[in-house]
Amino acid sequence: MAKVPNSAELIDSLLNTPNLARGDVPDEHWMDVKPVFKPGNYCWPGKPKIVEYHGFPNSREWKPDEEDWKLPENWKEIILEGFRERLHKFRSLKVFMDVCVRCGACADKCHFFLGSGDPKNMPVLRAELMRSVYRGEFKTAGKILGRLAGGRKLTIDVIKEWFMYFYQCTECRRCSAFCPYGIDTAEVTMMAREMLHLIGVNINWILEPAANCNRTGNHLGLQPHAIVSSVESLCDDIEEILGRRIDVPFNKKGADVLFITPSADMFAMPGIYTMMGYILLFDHIGLNYTMSTYASEGGNFGLFTSNEMMKKLNAKMYAEAKRLGVKWILGGECGHMWRVIHQYMSTMNGPADFLEVPKSPVTGTVFENARETKMVHISEFTADLIKHGKLNLDPSRNAHLKVTWHDSCNTSRGMGLLEEPRYVIKNVIPEENFHEMPDNCIREQTFCCGSGTGLNTDEFMETRMKGGFPRASAASYVNAKHGVNMMGCVCAIDRATLSALMMYWNPDVEVCGLSELVGNALIMDGEKKRTMDMRMEPLPGVEEEEEPEGEAPAEEAAAPEGGDA
Ligand code: SF4
Ligand code: SF4
Repeated sequence: MAKVPNSAELIDSLLNTPNLARGDVPDEHWMDVKPVFKPGNYCWPGKPKIVEYHGFPNSREWKPDEEDWKLPENWKEIILEGFRERLHKFRSLKVFMDVCVRCGACADKCHFFLGSGDPKNMPVLRAELMRSVYRGEFKTAGKILGRLAGGRKLTIDVIKEWFMYFYQCTECRRCSAFCPYGIDTAEVTMMAREMLHLIGVNINWILEPAANCNRTGNHLGLQPHAIVSSVESLCDDIEEILGRRIDVPFNKKGADVLFITPSADMFAMPGIYTMMGYILLFDHIGLNYTMSTYASEGGNFGLFTSNEMMKKLNAKMYAEAKRLGVKWILGGECGHMWRVIHQYMSTMNGPADFLEVPKSPVTGTVFENARETKMVHISEFTADLIKHGKLNLDPSRNAHLKVTWHDSCNTSRGMGLLEEPRYVIKNVIPEENFHEMPDNCIREQTFCCGSGTGLNTDEFMETRMKGGFPRASAASYVNAKHGVNMMGCVCAIDRATLSALMMYWNPDVEVCGLSELVGNALIMDGEKKRTMDMRMEPLPGVEEEEEPEGEAPAEEAAAPEGGDA
């Protein structure tokens, strides 16, 4: 494992390396610069047995930092045929290859470029890595004039460059939000990764979770009994906090709603606190729901692998909804699950006509936006409950938190989920405790965590910390200006990756999910006086109020206090 430089060392090395983002102009044509693989700037290749499990071709042991990648003899024909096939099949790819006018509007919008200053991390040049081959191998002018017409031939160095830079793109789509032609470089990256799979060039951190998900229903490969016992242990914690037991139904046939969330919410910090928030919410409103030990993963690593894989992993959620006979699906706080649902579900697996158009059993609201997918996001569902006055909330229980909101790329740019989480937050924490990061890095312009699309692996940490730098800088700003100590988000990958990012750049800022804050604020029927939050840490002011001797200060005595408010 590569030694990860600390934040001061990383800044030092960036300041001492030529950096286009700071105005250093390269003295070589980009086509002449070969990729250099070194620990920290690439992810480990797919293990042969995992590649074989997926039925992908050309499984073998190989190392990116070795000269010989052991590619199949006819690797060039395979890639060019794969390219030709995709140009024919996906009109969007053909358009993206043809219409870029190199205006440069996207150039400084990528977090990997801003964090590294590497020209090939500019979205325009990242896509050009593929466009140049398109011109050089398929277009007459490029075939004849070569570099003069922006074309080049496909070589092994090009393949190495594709592997490096299409695995330094988190498919976040920030660049596309600025492109006047709507070119989506994320889709270019997806196509490049698909083609690299054809010659056995891929990364294990994506393929292994996808294999696990295919086999057991979740990324970690957990068996049904492990899932149930993990959620039960969260119910034990809830019992300690509330003083009463809440159980979670699994695989219940005939429930109104199937709830599916990322498996990380059931196992990993800080997602487990979000899971506890869901459990409290569903009990609070008496929701007739079930979870599944088979559709036990909202996340879809197929999005980072191939269209076919994405389609297969998405389909399992609907197959389970059919088996259990529920009316509709409620989805938890996940990022790529929602990108798949909103961008691809309809054409890949939909419409899910065997389910009903989602209708809240509590408020009667019909979620028309989910008419096709039959799947509602938990923050839409919760915002609707609050709007209709159905939740008994005490925001003062979150008074120790000064919160900012990270719009996760897939839910913000991928599905337009911008207002609902903010509406929920402002109702579950004291409103004055909410502070936005600067306008040019939130909502549709949000910065990526720097580790999405399956790049959240330890061996890639140095590049992750560079790519996450713009997001971390914005967090530093609100920390310094307003004392922000918590960053909320609705994505399980973000909860994990932002935790590492904040630990590295801003140790004063922690990370939470939206439903964790909801769980803290909910005043539950039959609960004992709340003294702990979902993390089982003391609630503010409670110790003083529990002092047996003396009188509490007047303002504390007047403040709402847990379940007694
Ligand atoms: S999709 Fe995101 S990571 Fe990829 S080039 Fe665009 S801005 Fe960069
Ligand atoms: S903004 Fe669009 S058209 Fe302009 S360089 Fe980038 S991808 Fe090309």
